[in-house]
Amino acid sequence: MTHELMHFIRPYRWWLPLLVALGIAASFAEGVGIGFLIPMLNTLIGSGPSGNAGPFARFMSELLPDTGEKQKLAIFAVAILVLIGMKAAILASNLALATRLAGQVTRDLRMAACRQLLQVSYSLFSDTEHGRLINILDVQTSRTSEALLWFEEAIIHSCSIAVFVGLLLFLSWQMTLIALVLLAPAFLVVRRITRLAHQRGEALVEAQSVMAGRILELLGNMRTIRIFGQEKAEERRFSGAAEGFYQGFRQWETLNRLVQPLAELLYVPAFLAVFAYAWSTKIGIPTMLVFLLFLYRMQLPLKRLDQARVKLASYSSSVSEVTGLLRTEDTAYVESGSTPIDRLESVINFDKVTFRYEPGSEPALRNVSFEVAKGSVVAIVGKSGSGKSTLVNLLCRFYDPEAGVISVDGKPLPELDLHSWRRCLAFAGQDADLISGSIRENVIFGQPGATDEDVRGAVVMSHAAEFIDRLPEGLETRVGPRGLRLSGGQRQRIALARALIRKPDVLILDEATNAVDNVTEEAIQETVERLAGDATIFVIAHRLSTLRSAHRVLVMADGELVEEGVPEELLRKRSVLSGLAEFDADSYRVPG
Ligand code: ADP
Ligand code: MG
Repeated sequence: MTHELMHFIRPYRWWLPLLVALGIAASFAEGVGIGFLIPMLNTLIGSGPSGNAGPFARFMSELLPDTGEKQKLAIFAVAILVLIGMKAAILASNLALATRLAGQVTRDLRMAACRQLLQVSYSLFSDTEHGRLINILDVQTSRTSEALLWFEEAIIHSCSIAVFVGLLLFLSWQMTLIALVLLAPAFLVVRRITRLAHQRGEALVEAQSVMAGRILELLGNMRTIRIFGQEKAEERRFSGAAEGFYQGFRQWETLNRLVQPLAELLYVPAFLAVFAYAWSTKIGIPTMLVFLLFLYRMQLPLKRLDQARVKLASYSSSVSEVTGLLRTEDTAYVESGSTPIDRLESVINFDKVTFRYEPGSEPALRNVSFEVAKGSVVAIVGKSGSGKSTLVNLLCRFYDPEAGVISVDGKPLPELDLHSWRRCLAFAGQDADLISGSIRENVIFGQPGATDEDVRGAVVMSHAAEFIDRLPEGLETRVGPRGLRLSGGQRQRIALARALIRKPDVLILDEATNAVDNVTEEAIQETVERLAGDATIFVIAHRLSTLRSAHRVLVMADGELVEEGVPEELLRKRSVLSGLAEFDADSYRVPG
């Protein structure tokens, strides 16, 4: 746990000695400040240096031997004020330092988690529950930052405990020994109660969520409760939860309130013993008083240190979640090759490609081989689940095949620089996943730095201009995941413009227009096909019109490439036609 935290702090490790130094300085200033009470009280009650006191007490007693009483008092009072002021200032800067450190580490953690998500293989990303990822990126990193704050507090309090124990020893090691022996059991008892209170606190949180559940149920099912005449039963259940909460609260509160008085009570024997010792050895009232003040003053850091340890333990699961994400073993990591690629020169080849999403599951692609010449339009058809999108996923290298090779101009995909290969591609799919921002920002996302003319060209080509021009804010209309009242078809056309503005070498349309009305879809189809020749186009669609104008058709069934050929030839075979018709009826989406 501490080890994991240290790992996060590593880039800022030089802060730690500073934290310790300031912690020691603050407590030392406070201790010496309190120590000035010794000569002050000596002066007031007219006693001399303490008999068999430790070096600190003697040093303090013997300050300014030849100064007048009034001046002495004034000097000591000022010294106390200055030292206590210094302590406050040092402590404040130390806490500021600690907060800043925790803040920076949290920021780094979030960035590291984000970078990790952008880097890991696509399969790891899609296999992890998104709720969990959101929780890690948001809640757990914050809790890790709190854990860090507690860790730093633990350091600061340890410093002040060390300083106080040191000063106690220098006041009188004998009294220190007596006090420690008597206080140890008291400390253990208090600690036990604090932990019990903490456990009760956790039980209380539990009772709170039971209560919240009941409230939700009550509000959500009001109609059902009344229709079925369940008011009384509901009231009973509610009162059960309310009672549970009350009991939990009472126990927690009682324990909490018990801690302080009990601690003070348990301190009394130690105080009395110190008093008796001081009396019998003539160590002097001033020294004894300062000693007791130190003892009393030590309570706070001791309590906070213990609290910090409990907190750290309770945050350890958050820290592990975050480190877990950062160190996830990514078995499907897709490593970029080194050969850059500017454009597709001649051919894309799938050679006996087999792929499964999970080891041991049915292959999503089985022994698929085909070749596509640059500049052609390839239609991929087949029923839902037959592996069409999987082909595309592999071509974009979201995954690597389990067997077989996909090559571009004769070079296997893994040899190519991944970024430059993806720069050759553009993709539009059926879920038009728009980013939050204006329509213009969404289109430019495809080609950062594109001009207004390019944007205009792309939206005209995707037939999005038709509806954009009718929007009051035109291209500046805001859209996004929770965006506006755009229909599915309109969103798809924006997504298509985003793909087209890249002027891609390889354009992939995976049911990219299935929510667009028939007439517009055919118009889009025609525009897009005019790009062929320069661009190589993969179209996954179910309409016969798509099939007719393609240069080549691949027919997929259960992960296998079952037929392949030119459209006229395939259209003559009834099998493909009937499959397509059935598919069409099944999954055609009503335009949003
Ligand atoms: P199509 O695009 O032709 O509808 P897909 O290529 O999406 O079909 O799916 C092919 C097979 O792979 C289906 O059985 C589907 O359930 C499975 N599959 C698709 N995506 C995943 C995934 N991310 N994880 C596991 N299985 C998947
Ligand atoms: Mg699909």
